[in-house]
Amino acid sequence: MILFMKYRIITFGCQTNQSDSERIAAILNKIGFEPALSQDDADFIIANACSVRQSAIDRIHGIAHKIQKKKKRGEKTPIAVLTGCVLEQDRKKLAGKFDIILDIRDIKNLPYILKTIRGTSNVLRKIQGRATMNNINRWKTAEKSTEYFKITPSYKSPFSAFVPIMTGCNNFCTYCAVPYTRGKEISRPVKDVINEIKNLIKKGYKEITLLGQNVNSYKYKIPKSKILISKQIQKYKFKIPKNDYIDFATLLFLINAIPGDFWIRFHSSHPKDFTDELIDAITSCEKVTKYISLPVQAGNDKVLKRMNRPYTISQYKKLVNKIRKKIPDASISTDFIVGFPGETKKQFQDSIKLFKNLKFDMAYIAQYSPRPGTAAERIFKDSVPIKEKKRRDRELTTVLKKTSLNINKKLVRTTQQVLIEKEIKRQNEHWLIGKTRGFKTVKIPITPDSSEKLIGNFADVKITKALDLGLIGQTPLK
Ligand code: SF4
Repeated sequence: MILFMKYRIITFGCQTNQSDSERIAAILNKIGFEPALSQDDADFIIANACSVRQSAIDRIHGIAHKIQKKKKRGEKTPIAVLTGCVLEQDRKKLAGKFDIILDIRDIKNLPYILKTIRGTSNVLRKIQGRATMNNINRWKTAEKSTEYFKITPSYKSPFSAFVPIMTGCNNFCTYCAVPYTRGKEISRPVKDVINEIKNLIKKGYKEITLLGQNVNSYKYKIPKSKILISKQIQKYKFKIPKNDYIDFATLLFLINAIPGDFWIRFHSSHPKDFTDELIDAITSCEKVTKYISLPVQAGNDKVLKRMNRPYTISQYKKLVNKIRKKIPDASISTDFIVGFPGETKKQFQDSIKLFKNLKFDMAYIAQYSPRPGTAAERIFKDSVPIKEKKRRDRELTTVLKKTSLNINKKLVRTTQQVLIEKEIKRQNEHWLIGKTRGFKTVKIPITPDSSEKLIGNFADVKITKALDLGLIGQTPLK
């Protein structure tokens, strides 16, 4: 056992990486490491990388640079580990700068590697030199699977947990690095997912977010007979799947049947896999919040084609309208890229039309930046100037804020169930911050002594004011 070593995990990117970092922390805690308060205080730094944006990779180079500088000055330096989503070319560039480069799916081997390098700092340094290349070769050939999900995470929050149900992606959107860094889609065994959630609910968790790059293509082979396990499921007019696999709709029914007072969320969905069965499952399962994140990415068919998104705007609109018809209280958000290579001003105006037409509750808008190694970077010229990308972002955000404000106004004077997440104290201001079932952020002004009991719990909140991207509310305690 290695004692008195402190670690610092630096997480970049999405919720999947955040969840992976909780598993890394669990491994390190188990072998006696403690979290460090800062990077300077750490004996051991793990950068959990994201390759979706160049800025994250630049920051990882920055971490490596800082360590190298310390080394040159003869100061004590931490052991540096790189994991997460790293493209092959970045991996090669960073190989000499990190002591260990490890595939996230091999993270369970970390105690073994650390056992190898424990000892005096001199020994450590010597082995570290070898560790980089040895580990790249050794761990590259290790079994790639969802095995690492079996590690019980050190969840950051005591009431809200990310639960990965799959990893990888088969879609190869031309702008995206994920299929190259995480490999092909693999679904996690149903039993493991259910057991992790059952344990969380026993501990009193209130919000479970199912994670995957494309959750609605979840597919796990299981004999049909095994599905007939729960009477609770049958009350939902649960249909036995025609095939011998559990799909995402069926998985939602199974999770919904776990007794307890909790919400089920999921992230992220691909429009091409949003089936009628899934819409029925969301409608039937009372624990599934009606918040649907449905990335459209562009507002024009030609741009979608260049992105390798296999649907048209007309199909996407039909899908959103079908969801709204079957789930009238659905809160729909989207992800969007402005300034994709070749996107003309006219094509961008189609995006404006789409936003005006579909009136999203929320949108996460990104300005396109090429990622080395992706198809878009190889094939297309980054033709839209940064200034124009910024302008398009502002124009689309203005439309979003208007539509979102109008939707939010309809919630004023209603009472919403809110999961209270945190409190904010600023000079004379004291707020609770929470989220509605529809994933809208609510700010609740309170008196200084009334907060603690509510954090991590559901509260009925009366909405008093609509903001363009959020709400103001009042708890019954006020
Ligand atoms: S669906 Fe597309 S954007 Fe999402 S992870 Fe897969 S390739 Fe990337």
